Amino acid sequence: MVQSRQIIHVDMDAFYASVEQLDNPDLVGKPVIVGGDPKQRGVVSAASYKARKFGVHSAMPMSRAVRLCPDAIVLPVRMKRYAEFSQQIHAIFQLFTPQIEPISLDEAFLDVTGSIRLFGSAEKIGRAIKDQIREKLGLVASVGIATNKFLAKLASDLNKPDGFVVITEKNKQQILDPLPVSRIWGIGKVTEKALKSKGIHTIEQLRRAQPEILRSILGDQTPHILRLVQGVDNREVKSNREAKSISSEQTFATDITDKDILIDVLLNQVEDVAQRLRLNDLEAKTITLKLRYDDFRTITRSSTFDHPTNVTKIFWREAEQVFLKWHQKSAGALRLLGFGVSGLQKAGSGQHQLFTEPELEKQKRLDEAFDKIRNKFGDDALRRGK
Ligand SMILES: [Mg+2]
Repeated sequence: MVQSRQIIHVDMDAFYASVEQLDNPDLVGKPVIVGGDPKQRGVVSAASYKARKFGVHSAMPMSRAVRLCPDAIVLPVRMKRYAEFSQQIHAIFQLFTPQIEPISLDEAFLDVTGSIRLFGSAEKIGRAIKDQIREKLGLVASVGIATNKFLAKLASDLNKPDGFVVITEKNKQQILDPLPVSRIWGIGKVTEKALKSKGIHTIEQLRRAQPEILRSILGDQTPHILRLVQGVDNREVKSNREAKSISSEQTFATDITDKDILIDVLLNQVEDVAQRLRLNDLEAKTITLKLRYDDFRTITRSSTFDHPTNVTKIFWREAEQVFLKWHQKSAGALRLLGFGVSGLQKAGSGQHQLFTEPELEKQKRLDEAFDKIRNKFGDDALRRGK
């Protein structure tokens, strides 16, 4: 028999807010919200668990968050600081496996199948990672362990915060069955509603449903979803070295149709991704927008430059075009928006012709000044004009 894979999903608890509390111990135990300015239609990027008790959650408009929790301490996003912690977390992962797939600054999949001979069971490795993150960095991670990515991610979320859940081949169906169908990747609000109208609320009901009923609701997604329902997921962990893109995406708490809000979110993502490219001394040739509708249909829209770049304005000009084109043709309520770049190479190896040389130099100086200010005062200290 082939040895089944052992996947660990690590997800930091209230990551940005926890880093702020580490940097300023006065904030410990207080409701801390990290995000954009409430007066500028900013959104919540992270909230401490104390703030979450008031109903505050990420992607909520900040104005709403401060109404729900008037005593909250609202802090600007300091992406560079979180990236530093993220690197240290990754250094801990690397002690146990090179097979690491980062999902965001605070979340990653690890394939530890090959590490078990050296370190003992996946459970031991997961426990060691969790302990080291707490001891070395003073941060709390939730850990999920399973034989595939879907179950590992589900596991890390089951007992948050400070969770540690192992899903095995033996207990997986027992854990999956009572959960709501919305826990399945690929089932959005519309699909959920359609399933509910047929009396299908839980994963068990979905598993036992008539195939014709499922097909009428899920269409050609049916086989994929039926695999997940049984805890089967064959996607591989794609390690860092193979990763050829940098991206930023946001799942909204409620679906968003407002064009201006979406453009705001996108601009933020473009700025973050461009800054991360520059921090890593990289340039990219292709931009990709990822758009997920309320029914979980996901589309991507890409555009490739003649020459790679890491200039925010060049990315933004193209990203906005691509977005507006999409909006004109196929606008709809989105539950997720993302921006990513690919075709990465070391900075300075190509030249860009969209701008004249003096204009390009000016943009580069702007980016440099921008990075400095953002690193010092927070990412929202400076927002450039669109
Ligand atoms: Mg997290």
